[in-house]
Amino acid sequence: MAIDGLLNKGFVTTTLDTAINWLRTGSVWPVSFGLACCAIEMMHSSASRYDMDRFGTFFRASPRQSDLMIVAGTLCNKMAPALRKVYDQMAEPRWVVSMGSCANGGGYYHDSYSVVRGCDRIVPVDIYVPGCPPTAEALLYALMQLRGKIRRTSTIARQ
Ligand code: SF4
Repeated sequence: MAIDGLLNKGFVTTTLDTAINWLRTGSVWPVSFGLACCAIEMMHSSASRYDMDRFGTFFRASPRQSDLMIVAGTLCNKMAPALRKVYDQMAEPRWVVSMGSCANGGGYYHDSYSVVRGCDRIVPVDIYVPGCPPTAEALLYALMQLRGKIRRTSTIARQ
């Protein structure tokens, strides 16, 4: 077959989607958005012991340089519009990880008048991380799951 000849000469065939997604998985940049105690574990995942940077994942101060939002902590009603505003300023394609019981569904404060019972009421969530707080390992595992999701999603369809 003609393709066998190409492979023997060192050619690799792929789709544009696969190539772009492979590049994207190595440069997922989260926007810094800590809300409460879960944010301490989020910071921990980036420090020397767990070193999230080794996966090409660096926290950015600007949503315009970010394609991942990690909602880490209790989301209150007053903060919800700001969360949505930051999300809207992020570049497409973008992803959201909900970190911890509070972000997932209100958690310990789900009966409070001031707390949003799940950040998925404000932004679309791709990965939920259980725990109060989830460990740094759990957040790294969520990042691995997200990388798998990015690889499986058509970049063109997502935009
Ligand atoms: Fe704090 Fe637990 Fe809520 Fe995380 S889930 S913000 S650790 S109370």
